[in-house]
Amino acid sequence: MTTLSNLIKPGSTIGIIGGGQLGRMLAFSAKEKGYRIAVLDPTADCPTAQVADHHVQAAYDDVNALKKLAEMSDVLTYEFENVDAEAIKEVNKQVAIAIPQGTDLLLNTQNRLSEKDFLKKAGIPLAAYAKIINGDDLKEAVETIGYPCVLKTIQGGYDGKGQVVLKSASDLTEAERLLENGTCVLEEWVSFEKELSIMVARNASGDTVTLPVSENIHTNNILLKSIVPARASDETLKEARTIAETIAEEMALVGVLGVELFLTKTGDLYANELAPRPHNSGHYSIEACSHSQFDLHIKAVCGYPLPEVELLKPAVMVNILGEHLEAALKLNETQPYWHVHDYGKTGVKEGRKMGHVTILTDDRQETLKAIDETKIWD
Ligand code: AMP
Repeated sequence: MTTLSNLIKPGSTIGIIGGGQLGRMLAFSAKEKGYRIAVLDPTADCPTAQVADHHVQAAYDDVNALKKLAEMSDVLTYEFENVDAEAIKEVNKQVAIAIPQGTDLLLNTQNRLSEKDFLKKAGIPLAAYAKIINGDDLKEAVETIGYPCVLKTIQGGYDGKGQVVLKSASDLTEAERLLENGTCVLEEWVSFEKELSIMVARNASGDTVTLPVSENIHTNNILLKSIVPARASDETLKEARTIAETIAEEMALVGVLGVELFLTKTGDLYANELAPRPHNSGHYSIEACSHSQFDLHIKAVCGYPLPEVELLKPAVMVNILGEHLEAALKLNETQPYWHVHDYGKTGVKEGRKMGHVTILTDDRQETLKAIDETKIWD
């Protein structure tokens, strides 16, 4: 039973650490509910600052800036995992303000090795992995794990950055070069049929809800499309939900967490990565669900009970990267039913996430074809 104590009520200010598109979409949801928004981000006119009431323009690990954000906020949340957990702890100590997501979640997820150790302990299926500090560790682990495998830096990597795929011994030299950046983790290569993800939300009272499972298509390691619901068996979808709920419970999650999964041809699911925040593959929920991942996150960090989420209509989401932006914004002229989101970023760069399009559909295959026919994502 939910106890409605320590509610952060509408009219209060939510301080968001990180001012990208996730912060912006959190702000939209929060504003609709009557909250004010303060944001900490080093970039002037960043996506969240454009829609926030206050902007503290400073680095994420600037303790004085974090304190300033805390002083103007009733609750703090973070929108990405590369936040300095130590700096947040410092603020937690000195300012009487809650960061409901906590710092353990951050520490567990910003380090690939602690994330895997946590998942293993929680009984979540994972590809084989090993901690690699030097070339000898690497050679030894390759013997056990075998080729192909992938070496990843344990900190700071995203969208495939800081990774070397090893197909044979000739890739060892390049992999050893990656070790110069610090400790790494070697993972067995999963020959997956599909990549799936699921968003789970939990509040401090233990209400736990999941969103429908997305099927994700990546190009150059960057998410390109999400198809919802994922084209997978009921059993797989159910297992994905169980995995997400178990992780949320074991982590004592407060807020939203994204769980990335590999689905093999034999129907096995393996956890790949966690994101301690709303996730790109959950953006479809803004239009396609009775409550979006952003609504759930705001409700959870403000202490409110969480609703079961209903999929109102299947959807396909496609990301707008820098190279797609100009043509994708023109879709407003020809596709009145498509929801074209523009994050308002000023620096257009190839590979940079600038927006996304969500298309509600009764026929996912037809919609994928319609996306292809635009030739924008070729
Ligand atoms: P990550 O940053 O770990 O999510 O990796 C980026 C992408 O690389 C994933 O979405 C997969 O497409 C691919 N990938 C990463 N690790 C593996 C693995 N162990 N087996 C197969 N594919 C992988």
